[in-house]
Amino acid sequence: MNTLLLNPGEAEKAASILRSGGLVALPTETVYGLGASALKEDAVKRIFEVKGRPQDNPLIIHVAGPEALGEWCEEVPERAYTLADRFWPGPLTLVLRCRKTGEPHIPDRVTAGLDTVAVRCPDHPATLEVIRLAGVPVAAPSANLSGKPSTTTAIHCLHDLQGKVEAVLDGGPCRVGLESTILDLTVSPPRILRPGGVTLEQLRECLGEVELDRGLVQPGETPKAPGMKYRHYAPSAELTLVRCGDAETFRRFAESVPDEGTAVLCWLGEERDYPGKRVLAYGRGDEPETLAAHVFAALRELDTPDIRRILVRCPGEDGVGLAVVNRLKKAAGGKILCL
Ligand code: AMP
Ligand code: MG
Repeated sequence: MNTLLLNPGEAEKAASILRSGGLVALPTETVYGLGASALKEDAVKRIFEVKGRPQDNPLIIHVAGPEALGEWCEEVPERAYTLADRFWPGPLTLVLRCRKTGEPHIPDRVTAGLDTVAVRCPDHPATLEVIRLAGVPVAAPSANLSGKPSTTTAIHCLHDLQGKVEAVLDGGPCRVGLESTILDLTVSPPRILRPGGVTLEQLRECLGEVELDRGLVQPGETPKAPGMKYRHYAPSAELTLVRCGDAETFRRFAESVPDEGTAVLCWLGEERDYPGKRVLAYGRGDEPETLAAHVFAALRELDTPDIRRILVRCPGEDGVGLAVVNRLKKAAGGKILCL
């Protein structure tokens, strides 16, 4: 299959591919999504096949605005609209009861048979236009091969998906750089199933009490979002995530590791501290947004055969830092080395 590279002016072309059951990688503010009409079971099935995604891992549906909540969900609580008002379009996914009757409704293949559905409204003008023109909810997981770092540019999408999908819509690099926050509104208090671009602090300010899913904080607990139990986001090299108070401790640790085959993912301003090793800075340690924006692209850049291990300087968990650490920890097989 010849994969078309579309520009943002070609939203109608992308929408018509979706309407006719094809797959299009779409830009969002978080990461690129691999979109299909959520109402076409065969197209949704292909998403799982193309990505090599486990069947039990449900998809988020992408909609044009809060009015879609009543269409695809039931028993929608008032606070869903309060959150949509405040954070949509934006990196917040709401888990709500899925309407299972009446036509059309979201098929089980999208929700992996759960009685809930995850819904969000992405903040990217081209993709919002595609969703509106397609006139259907768009099921879209991240546009990468399962297990690999998510894609934040059209080139990265092509790297993983060329020849396997009808089109990639190039909307430039993703602003946030990691996936949306998933908030379960079917429990009380609301629970974060995956940290992301909208922070725990922002949600608490808006709703009062908000919890973190135990699967995020307690080793051995099964996460409620099925996708959070898999190893993820990982380049081929072994990744060691290092938490330490200062740059000097990290530098000394890196020095104790052989140069050959080692890459260091550090913070801006520290690039010269690791002579002999491959060095890449992924953002400012005191500005987690900058780390979020570049972490997946950095992991992809270091995914080359000559690099066998990657040492990563771990940021703090305030704000978006919680999401950055969550993704790095998954890529590191669940471990943080504390020095
Ligand atoms: P991705 O689209 O690749 O970012 O992954 C979507 C994430 O949302 C996965 O971790 C899924 O398990 C999770 N998810 C999707 N639908 C639901 C749902 N109804 N309940 C809980 N988690 C969900
Ligand atoms: Mg994903």
